[in-house]
Amino acid sequence: MNIAQITAQELLDSRGQPTVEATVYLDERLKASAMVPSGASTGKLEALEMRDGDPDRYHGKGVLRAVQNITDTIAPALIGLDVTDQQAIDRRMIELDATENKSHLGANAILAVSIACLRAGALVRQVPFFQYTAEVFGKPTDEPFLMPIPLINVLNGGKHAIGSSDFQEYMIVPVGAPTFAETVRWAAEVFQCLKTVVRDRGWPTTVGDEGGYAPPVGSNEEPLKLIVQALDKAGYTPGVEFMIALDPAASECYRDGKYYLEKDGLELTSSEMVDLLVDWTRRYPIVSIEDGLDQEDWEGFALLKKKTQNKVQIVGDDLFVTNPERVRMGIERNAANCVLIKANQIGTITETFATIHLAREHGMTTIISHRSGETELPFEADFAVGTDAGQVKIGSISRSERIAEYNELMRIERRLGDRAVMANFPFARRSGARP
Ligand code: PGA
Ligand code: ZN
Repeated sequence: MNIAQITAQELLDSRGQPTVEATVYLDERLKASAMVPSGASTGKLEALEMRDGDPDRYHGKGVLRAVQNITDTIAPALIGLDVTDQQAIDRRMIELDATENKSHLGANAILAVSIACLRAGALVRQVPFFQYTAEVFGKPTDEPFLMPIPLINVLNGGKHAIGSSDFQEYMIVPVGAPTFAETVRWAAEVFQCLKTVVRDRGWPTTVGDEGGYAPPVGSNEEPLKLIVQALDKAGYTPGVEFMIALDPAASECYRDGKYYLEKDGLELTSSEMVDLLVDWTRRYPIVSIEDGLDQEDWEGFALLKKKTQNKVQIVGDDLFVTNPERVRMGIERNAANCVLIKANQIGTITETFATIHLAREHGMTTIISHRSGETELPFEADFAVGTDAGQVKIGSISRSERIAEYNELMRIERRLGDRAVMANFPFARRSGARP
């Protein structure tokens, strides 16, 4: 089946900011749409998200130019292509754009079309989206599907919740539940207990952009204590059923060679920042640290990896921006052992999948990730299962755009029946004593 038409529209994301939706038509009956997410703490080297810059509309954040690039430039070039030839579709868009960072057409325009084509391909094949994703990814057909371990962002700070911690994300990592549905139940129970813990301190229980609570904590360590209390209250043991993961998004606190932790009144050098994080891994069951250092602080990353002796997952997000060149640099510098995967950092499905393959070939783990600005399309759930990612980062157990991902994963698990296998967390060891 060939692409007959592509249309596009400006809609809103979960923060109420404009985003792009593309719709691919195959004939009168078959069509598929996709909307793209958007980051707040974006990496410097991400592919360009095209915004209009017109101050009279959405304070400059409109996406009408990206929409027009789809209808005027991308659509005419793709009409007639076989919608199941994802590589040819993405290659054509990359050639049309002809820039390093997709700044001519906009990565938001290109990715919306790329995902819409992938969804349309699943309709043509008449298989579920995750299964078609697996086919395009190149997963062997006779293997079971891995249900991912979720890293669940229950306390939000940084750019996602002004007034809370400097560090952006404090995540709980349920390990050892037999199914994904049970994993979600455990986490939902902890999240409800965390609400009580926050309320009992007299703090508001309002949530940040990714649905985690965002109380005005007194220090950057305090959220870890709240999590431990919530786990206790819910009847789980920190370091046994639940581990902890962090995403400080440290580029946001970095200026001129120093890390500024305002909540703690601290101004740290790179190696002092590493020492702070290493100390926490000894005192809490922290098994994963994403962007613990600035996006250009390769030495800091390598030092953190060395000091945690490969026993903690060191994740590159802003560091790698889902870009194979950056991942190769990370491998040379021994800077991380995990790549965070965000399709809109690179801009096409084909390139996203290539980065996942590259990471795996070098023994690195992968986490399929949402963005802080999300949409009601939970495509990351299908990506995680289709690529056997093993881990997923889709926010807290609240707000419909986050819940949509958990629900989609539970539906996929049910549909797969005994062809679904719960992933193991590769760094699930008790890395920290109880505080
Ligand atoms: P972002 O945050 O989508 O705002 O970049 C998510 C993250 O840093 O992982
Ligand atoms: Zn991050």
